[in-house]
Amino acid sequence: MKEGKKRSFTLLDIMSLTEEDCKQQLAFNRWGEKPVCPYCDHDKCYTTKERYKCSKCRKLFSVRVGTPFEDSKIPLKKWFVAMYFVTHHTKPISSHQLAKDIEVTQRTAWFMLHRLRNTLCENGYEDKLECVVEIDETYVGGKNRNRHWDKKVPHSQGRSFKDKTPVVGMLERGTGKVRAQKVPDTKKKTLMPIIKKNIKKGSKVMTDEYRVYCDLHLDYTHKKVYHNRGQYVDGDAHTNGIEGFWSLLKRGILGVYHNVSPKHLDFYISEAQYKYNTRKMKGQKKFNKILKSDKQISYAQLTKDFSSERNKRQ
Ligand SMILES: [Zn+2]
Repeated sequence: MKEGKKRSFTLLDIMSLTEEDCKQQLAFNRWGEKPVCPYCDHDKCYTTKERYKCSKCRKLFSVRVGTPFEDSKIPLKKWFVAMYFVTHHTKPISSHQLAKDIEVTQRTAWFMLHRLRNTLCENGYEDKLECVVEIDETYVGGKNRNRHWDKKVPHSQGRSFKDKTPVVGMLERGTGKVRAQKVPDTKKKTLMPIIKKNIKKGSKVMTDEYRVYCDLHLDYTHKKVYHNRGQYVDGDAHTNGIEGFWSLLKRGILGVYHNVSPKHLDFYISEAQYKYNTRKMKGQKKFNKILKSDKQISYAQLTKDFSSERNKRQ
C-alpha cells in the first residue's frame, strides 16, 4: 500500500488515508520494513491478520504497543489529524477546536493534545547552553483585566504577582535555543542551580537588574540592563531574545487556551519551547518524530502526579 509508506503528508493526504494506511504508516516510521518486538526487541516477527507475533517471546502485539497511541481507542486517522495541527501550525490548537475538527469529546481532545505535547517534551539535556546566554523569569497566569471584578489582584505587576506561576528561561544567542521551566519561586536558591545546570561555566550571561542574579559573576561574565531605569539595551547587554520567547508563550496561552492551570503549565511551556526551538524544522520532520516516539502518559498520570514528577526532576 503506497499511501501508507509516504514520508510526507498534507492535510488532504491524511484525509484520504484509510485506517489501515495509517497503521502501515506508523509501522513504517517505527520499524522500516521489519517489525521489532516491543517486549524483547527481537526483529523476527510474523505478521498476522490484525497484529504481529514475535518469533522469540511469542507475544502478540499491535503496531500501537509502545507508542503514544497505545491504550487509545481513537482511530489513528484522528490522531494523525491532531498531529498535523500540532506539528504544522505555528499557533497551538485548543482542545475545544480539535474536538470539533475531529469529532471527539473535548475531554478526549484535551487528553490527545497532552499526549502529543508529552512526546515533544525534552526530559533533561546532555549539553549546556554556552557563549552568550540571556536569562530571565516571567509570570504566567490570567491578566487582571480578564478577571471578574471580585477576583482582581491589587498591584499585580512584575514579580510580586501572587496568583501567577513563575517560569525561568534561558536563551542561547546565535543558535536561538531556548530552555524554560516552571519554578516554585524566583529565589536565588531556586534559580541558581537551574542556571548552573543549563549554562556552561565561563559563558557570558545577560540579565536584568533583579537581585537574585547578583552572584552570577562568580561563574560567568555577567552583564546587566537596568529595566527599572528604563534601560533595555546597553551595547550587547539585553534580554530581547528571551522576552520574544515569553511573548510567544503568553500569546499562545492567552490567545488560544485562555486559561492554563499551573499544574499543566509544564506542557504548554514544553510546547512553546518545542515550537520555538524547531521553528526552522519542516512540519513533516516533526510529524515523523511523533510517529517514532515511544513516550507514553496515562490519563491518571496526567491528572494526578505528572506535576510532582516534573518538579522532582528539576
Ligand atoms: Zn518478543
